[in-house]
Amino acid sequence: MVEEKEIVIRRLNTARDLGKFMSEYYYELDAASKSGDKKIAWCTSVGPAEILRGLGFLVYFPETHSAMLGTTRMATELIPVANAIGYSPEICSYLTADVGAFLRNVTPLSKAFPGIEKVPRPDVLVYNTNQCRDVQDWFAFYAHRFNVPLLGINSYRGVGDVTGSHLASIKMQLENLIEPLEKIMGKKFDMDLFREAVKLSRECSDLWEQTLATASAKPSPLSFFDGTTLMGPAVVGRGTEAANNCYRMLNSELRERVDKGIGVIDNEKHRIYWDGMPVWGRLGQHSKLFAGLGANVIASTYCSSWIFSALDPKDPFESMARAYTELFIVRDDNYKENYIRNKLDFFDVDGVVYHNSRTCPNNTNCLYGMHQRLEKETGIPSLVIDGDLNDLRCLSDEQTRTNVEAFIEQLEENA
Ligand code: SF4
Repeated sequence: MVEEKEIVIRRLNTARDLGKFMSEYYYELDAASKSGDKKIAWCTSVGPAEILRGLGFLVYFPETHSAMLGTTRMATELIPVANAIGYSPEICSYLTADVGAFLRNVTPLSKAFPGIEKVPRPDVLVYNTNQCRDVQDWFAFYAHRFNVPLLGINSYRGVGDVTGSHLASIKMQLENLIEPLEKIMGKKFDMDLFREAVKLSRECSDLWEQTLATASAKPSPLSFFDGTTLMGPAVVGRGTEAANNCYRMLNSELRERVDKGIGVIDNEKHRIYWDGMPVWGRLGQHSKLFAGLGANVIASTYCSSWIFSALDPKDPFESMARAYTELFIVRDDNYKENYIRNKLDFFDVDGVVYHNSRTCPNNTNCLYGMHQRLEKETGIPSLVIDGDLNDLRCLSDEQTRTNVEAFIEQLEENA
């Protein structure tokens, strides 16, 4: 049996500042939705936010809303509401939970931010299928319900090398968004504002990358579970100076922790890499489960999804095309294996957990043998956890606990 330790998880002071950013972000959207004095675009989480900001839209991200449905554990009851109108329980549970919440007229925003009664009304919906096709169907539902335009980028998937023809196609689709967006916004596209949004977004990406890289320190000042909430401003605020300021503060606190040798948990005996999505409704539980076993889940493929190092204000359209095609989720298994191998080395990891997220095969990398190939090549043991991002009916807490305990025991024996 692995001995359970007293659980110490150190919260970051700047998490409060990031929480304030999120609160101001949602209140601004709510005020604009009520007054109608600013236009609102809904955007997918790795969609073309910089173009929307460059045109002056406020940008709302339904995926973040659905993650809140997960963390508040509202999602599992709402998914069947969407199933009842024909959306399968097998498809993205972000989609089904969010559509269910809309049909029931409920939102976790009301509890988190008093005075907000509903999600902001869109003037336009803009998707990029680089992450999955579900986002297109998800946004199509709302385009119909709100009777507003639906625009999008239809991307490549399973990309090996990113080639000139990939970039030419995506760049053209990005440029083709401008004219309809100008009509909706009622003003001409301003290249300088667009460049500024790309510049700020690139800075946000660099700062967020620095945040995540602090986890290479021993002990790590940061955990994956913290990262899933700390990434909020990078997702919803990229392209704004306010988001960048959040990460400057956060990084300064993390550097201080590293300098003083302060870890997010005590006695970091094992360093774990997490592949795939979190189980939003079990963040606290999973965080305590690993910490109690002296294991720190320090890094993940998921939190790194908002690093867009190719963004370049000097060549904004082409660099956006590259940044949003080079992403991990867009790539083939060969690229993904190399990527994960490098990360295991960089973070000096001694175990990998793959989350087999039932309704998101796009963010699950243990379905076609990758975990076993990597284990064989690197000698680093791995564990597959069956679960889901939002649908808690897809997981067994007991099974997860037993499997994680046995896995950590195996790591102890290997040590
Ligand atoms: S990537 Fe997965 S979780 Fe995200 S929207 Fe697509 S199916 Fe849903």
